[in-house]
Amino acid sequence: MTRVLVINAGSSSIKYQLVEADTGERLASGLVERIGEPLGHVVHQSLINDAHGAGGSGDGGETVVERELPVLDHTAGFAAMVEAFAATGHPVDSLGITALGHRVVQGGGDFIEPTLLDDGVANRIHELGELAPLHNPGHYQAIVAARRLFPGLPQVAVFDTAFHQTMPPESSRYAIDPAIAADHGIRRYGFHGISHQVVSRRAAEFLGRPLASLKQIVLHLGNGASACAIDGGRSVDTSMGLTPLAGLVMGTRSGDIDPGAILHLLRRGLDVDDIDELLNKRSGLLGFAGTNDFRDVRAAAEAGNADAQLAIAVYVHRIRAYLGAYLLELGGADAIVFTAGVGENNAAVRAEICADLDWFGIRIDPDRNEADARGPRRISSDDSRVEVLVIPTDEEAEIARQAWELVRG
Ligand code: ADP
Repeated sequence: MTRVLVINAGSSSIKYQLVEADTGERLASGLVERIGEPLGHVVHQSLINDAHGAGGSGDGGETVVERELPVLDHTAGFAAMVEAFAATGHPVDSLGITALGHRVVQGGGDFIEPTLLDDGVANRIHELGELAPLHNPGHYQAIVAARRLFPGLPQVAVFDTAFHQTMPPESSRYAIDPAIAADHGIRRYGFHGISHQVVSRRAAEFLGRPLASLKQIVLHLGNGASACAIDGGRSVDTSMGLTPLAGLVMGTRSGDIDPGAILHLLRRGLDVDDIDELLNKRSGLLGFAGTNDFRDVRAAAEAGNADAQLAIAVYVHRIRAYLGAYLLELGGADAIVFTAGVGENNAAVRAEICADLDWFGIRIDPDRNEADARGPRRISSDDSRVEVLVIPTDEEAEIARQAWELVRG
């Protein structure tokens, strides 16, 4: 058994999944949220059955446990998770868990691969919170709590930035005074690396071709969104930067904006927190169309709402600009790969992104694109020189795989 408990924690929530690391099968998942508020919420779903050899009361079905209770801190959050596992008849110590894998958003330039957690690594993750104030502090709290609660299990940090540490300096460096950049850690780190990595590997598997031979452009279009140029399985450029705010238009984030606009707003009296909130939480699709849910934006656009139409137009335009840049950087591409909530599910946006690209050898087959399908699939036409694929992302399976590989040695 190679079961890994994957943890994706924020400052007020813990998402977790129990994953069979060698197959990526999800055995259980859950969410503890509103940590630190008067009333927290726990929802746990177990898919464990007798076939998993886990004992307990597994009846082959799906069991859901839900609780409302105060969850004081991350330690209490993990205790609630442990209780939920027990309530489904599968206590955590009966499950053959071999490691914990923690998703960490910002690993800076320090962490270029999955890393076994010890006090030093945990402290460094905490320090890197300066570069990721919305993410790393929550990861750190969860890491401290989980190490206290599961002292006998190896715990691995898997970083969203690590995959992009192969970027050459012309992609990763900003054109500012190098001394200031070094002093403040200012460079492109890139994010969504776990997703770009698993999706590009699965795309190669789908095509039956060696990853090392492929040039790919992966478009991760979820609530957060980023593009990545991947040459032979290595990230060579990506649209997010120092923070996950750069690049594509997202659910609530602006993506690229002239840095001069920020100076202008500062001079006009907005303070740093106002601008932070504006660009991270009130921009993107939400800023234009009043909702960050792509389905609602699409429905409003189809009903004739001009704001929603503009939102989609800017969204698609930005993606195409990156697509064009990466086609040039890579010297052409073997595959363009769509993933995440919007990329996997919205055929119309895929068609808009790939419209009129015949000259580049990119041609979508409308029937394949619109087919009501879920798994990995090809949506390009047979005469398209570039393969256009939809490959569902699975960050938890990838974290489990990477954690297990490290622990197994
Ligand atoms: P996150 O970045 O939070 O992981 P997801 O990858 O789950 O985000 O993507 C969320 C986005 O995907 C939302 O904008 C949602 O509207 C969109 N989405 C999910 N399902 C569909 C669908 N069937 N059609 C269009 N958009 C969808």
